Formats: sequence, structure tokens, C-alpha cells
Amino acid sequence: MTHTTATQWVDLHTHSTASDGSLTPARLIASAKNAGLVGLALTDHDTGNGLLEAADAARQAGIRFVPGIEISAEFPHPGTMHLLGYFIDPVSPALKRMSQILLEGRDARNPRIIARLNELGCFITMDQVQAIARRGVSADRAVVIGRPHIAQALAEAGCVASVKQAFEVYLGTTGQAYFDKERLTRKQAIDCIHDAGGLAVLAHPVQLRTGHPAELENIVSNLKEIGLDGIEAWHSDHRPQDSEFILSLARRYQLVPTGGSDFHGTSKPDINLGLGRQNVRVPLAVLDELEAAWRRKTAAGQVVPPVQIQMESDRYGR
Ligand code: AMP
Ligand code: ZN
Ligand code: FE
Ligand code: FE
Repeated sequence: MTHTTATQWVDLHTHSTASDGSLTPARLIASAKNAGLVGLALTDHDTGNGLLEAADAARQAGIRFVPGIEISAEFPHPGTMHLLGYFIDPVSPALKRMSQILLEGRDARNPRIIARLNELGCFITMDQVQAIARRGVSADRAVVIGRPHIAQALAEAGCVASVKQAFEVYLGTTGQAYFDKERLTRKQAIDCIHDAGGLAVLAHPVQLRTGHPAELENIVSNLKEIGLDGIEAWHSDHRPQDSEFILSLARRYQLVPTGGSDFHGTSKPDINLGLGRQNVRVPLAVLDELEAAWRRKTAAGQVVPPVQIQMESDRYGR
């Protein structure tokens, strides 16, 4: 008699209301449970503010939780470079510092976008954008405001037909109201993640929009030299051949392959938790490998010891 154990699945790239997702951290965990996932990483843009709530909910739901973050690094247009931080310490001073720097970059950029939109005849205000970002969020919580919130405000004001159109016409890198935000260099971004106790992983490499595969390989090799730990192989934007090529790079450069949907809830309705656009399936073994790499590195003293991260302990209870 043979026994086959059903594969268990995780999602290592998700956003909550702490940034531009539409589900609160607790509801995100509930959705993961509903979707049958056994592990989840919360990787909000520029903030760890949702992590304690998610960790708490995950502990109660019996789901493995990875505290994460997603930050962007300097990269030439039209591409974007995002780095994921995994197993970051949610209460570390290093995380607070990094977050503060990144939020200052947003605070400098967002009003410029609004001002330009106003010049172009799209009359939305920062207050409206903030109200959109705060929907469903309790008053004592901070939120990170991003372009998807501005896009939503434009759609609600009738300036555009959809969020998609808002990016095409105004907010995308080639849009009429695009302004860059100040970013960390690649080295700074990786160092910040390490300082916060985490592993640094290159997110959705296809969004770098490199031409020839050799160009992507060159960037990955360069990032590895400055401390990159892993690379996202499975993602909603990846075709099977993209994932395959990225897996080959992971092997060649000894990077941990990771994967996730980049779920945002209603802000990106075509992306499903744990499934992406029906093209993302991440086995639990991927989380195991990522965690093992983090533990090895931590034991070797290469990242800040995770004094604060004890997933099973009560320290996340309030
Ligand atoms: P920000 O962090 O404010 O620069 O905004 C980044 C967010 O905007 C991420 O969630 C991106 O996936 C999203 N985004 C960027 N470009 C587009 C686009 N063309 N269409 C829809 N969402 C986009
Ligand atoms: Zn986002
Ligand atoms: Fe991203
Ligand atoms: Fe993301």
C-alpha cells in the first residue's frame, strides 16, 4: 500500500491595509486559513506595522507566519527593483529606522503627485486619498499611502474609468503625474533588511524589465555579491519559463528560491491568495528552506540575532 501525502501550500508575498492591501492583517490570515494555506508571509510596503496583528492571528489560526516587508531600491526606469525582507524582527529599532526613511520618501512624493494631478484637472485631495487608505483600519493604526490609493481616488472622482487606467495615464512610470520617490541604493536596502534581522530576497525579477536573460543574471550576480539571500521564483507576473529561468539562477548563485502571489485584495482583484493569476503554487518546503537558511545565517552570526522573534511564544499576545 502506498501513501501519498497531499502537498501543503504557502504564500510568501502579501499586502494588508498597513500598506496598499484591502484586508486587515487579521482578515488576511483568516483568508489564508480559508484558502487552505498552511503558511503566510506579510510583506507590506515599507512598514512592519501589520506584523504583530498578523502573527497573533496566525498563532490562533495555526498558520505558520513569516514577518516580512517589501522595499524598493534605486533602479533605472521603466523597471522597478523591489526587495523582500523575511524573518525581520517586527519590533527592532533597525526596522523602525528603515521604515521612517522610506515613509519620508513617500511623504515627499505623494503631495507632488496630487499637485500635478490638480494641474492636469483631476481634482482630488490628499485627505481623500488618506480616507481611502484608512478604510477598514482602526484609528490607532498607521497606514502607508501608495499610488494604488491615489489611483482609487482618481477612479472614485471619475477622472479615470479604472485603477488600471489611472496607472496608464497618470501614475505609472511613464504617466503624466509620475514622480519618483527617494530610494535606498541596492546595498543600503539589503543592509537595512539584514540589520532588521531578516533575509533579503529579490522580488518579482521580471519587473526589472531586463531585456536579455544575461542582463538579469548580471544584476542577480551583482546583488549576490552585496549580500542577497534569495530570489522570488513564483509570482503572479511570472510565466512558467520565467520561474524556470529564475530557479536556474537561484541554483547557480546559491540563492533561496521563494514565491508568493503579491495578493492585495480588492486593489488587485485578479490576484488570488495562494494562487496569483492561477500561476502561483508555493509548497511548504519553500518556507522550510527559507527558514532553515535564516536559522543557519543567524547561527553563524551573520544577521542580528532574532531576540524578538519567537513565533510560538506569547509575546505577540496583547
Ligand atoms: P508605490 O509604493 O506608491 O510606489 O506604489 C506601488 C504599488 O503600485 C505596488 O502595489 C504596485 O504593484 C502598484 N503598481 C505599480 N504600477 C502599477 C500599474 N501599472 N498598475 C497597477 N498597479 C501598479
Ligand atoms: Zn502594493
Ligand atoms: Fe513589488
Ligand atoms: Fe508586493
